Amino acid sequence: MESNDKQSKLDSRYLRMARIWAENSYCKRRQVGALVVKDKMIISDGYNGTPTGFENVCEDENNISKPYVLHAEANAITKLARSNNNSDGSTIYITASPCIECAKLIIQAGIKRVVYGEKYRLTDGIELLERAGIEVVYMEV
Ligand SMILES: [Zn+2]
Repeated sequence: MESNDKQSKLDSRYLRMARIWAENSYCKRRQVGALVVKDKMIISDGYNGTPTGFENVCEDENNISKPYVLHAEANAITKLARSNNNSDGSTIYITASPCIECAKLIIQAGIKRVVYGEKYRLTDGIELLERAGIEVVYMEV
């Protein structure tokens, strides 16, 4: 078992890595990054963006996010579906508070901890995670 101090240092580093990873996003309104870590290995990563094969533009002409833009954590979790890894028992690091749609995916993916770095007006995603018994940690980066 890791000491709390050691764990929070690791958490802080992974969260900062997720923030750097978010820079890959071509979305203009908001850039979000996510990393899935299991046994101290990064097993998946994601940032918000359109599905594979679509134009690399997230916003429409009115600067509204297109409905088919995937959130960073949804991209990280669905990337695992095409890999040999699995997220059961893992931790997800997200630069922003997960929405309720992504919270559902996190629960079903067997993720046990969520570390996030930016609070959001809506807290229903966080509440759902807590209801599912997932450890949720807010950390400033
Ligand atoms: Zn989401």
